[in-house]
Amino acid sequence: MKACSVVIKMPIVISLIVSVGVIALLAGCSSSSENSKSGSSGEIVTSLYPIEFIVSKIIKDDFEVVNLTPIGVEPHDFELNVNSTERLLSAPLAIVLGGGFQPVIEKTAKNRSGQTLSIFETFSQGNGNFEDMHFWLDPIKMQSVVKSITSALIKLNKSQAAQYEVRSKALQTELADLDDLYKTSLTNCEIRTFITSHNAFSRLAERYDLEQEPIAGISPDTEPSAKRIEELKSLVKNKKIEVIFTEELVSPKVVKILGKEAKVRTSVLSPLEGLTKEQESKGEDYFSIMESNLQKLVEALRCEIQI
Ligand SMILES: [Zn+2]
Repeated sequence: MKACSVVIKMPIVISLIVSVGVIALLAGCSSSSENSKSGSSGEIVTSLYPIEFIVSKIIKDDFEVVNLTPIGVEPHDFELNVNSTERLLSAPLAIVLGGGFQPVIEKTAKNRSGQTLSIFETFSQGNGNFEDMHFWLDPIKMQSVVKSITSALIKLNKSQAAQYEVRSKALQTELADLDDLYKTSLTNCEIRTFITSHNAFSRLAERYDLEQEPIAGISPDTEPSAKRIEELKSLVKNKKIEVIFTEELVSPKVVKILGKEAKVRTSVLSPLEGLTKEQESKGEDYFSIMESNLQKLVEALRCEIQI
């Protein structure tokens, strides 16, 4: 924690001159909170872990990367406080999801004067319909987001363009390898349907020819109707489903009730919307969690892995 208190006792004229410096100093204090890294020359504001992950991989220590959604918090409908609003407005680059995923953040970002990248807009330019915004669960969609983010970062810091391109390419190759792993692991499976707690996995399902049946809707806090629960119970029976997936950042209550009623076990599949404190302290990241998701899918869908 840096000391930010400034005590001034001096005649009015001098204090007027000095106050400009003091304001600048205080402004510096307010923007350098617990996330500060030394040597940073500004902040890049994001609001979701997978975006923060991409930015950090490409810029290393050139800027401080701020994720407005704190560790362990569910990011749908996340509200801003005074400090995070100020950071969102003043950062030289802000990357928002768009598409109504985090309405308050998206609305506030409209008042920014600096560069703002809306991921939804980059997608909707190509194909109008993008109902499920959880693109990061599809490594190929994630690759195209890496490209958009790289362009925004180069626009912000042209002097490092060559470095950013190299790191961006390396990240895209890693994502291509992850896609290969998913493809081969999910080729020969006994069943292709999986039940999740909210509609986060339709991009992933589409990519690997699977079928996702979410208990709730787009946002994890939507309660399912009694009719939906009955539908899912017969689905479990008809498709011989043995596992129902819950997730880390929301209460698994509904999933557990359904699991009990349908006599199946539950397992955690991460929508990767944020890391838990435990995952962070274990050094988990996007790739390690995507791989552990794959293992759980392979088990639940009873896939034969061919090596
Ligand atoms: Zn979600």
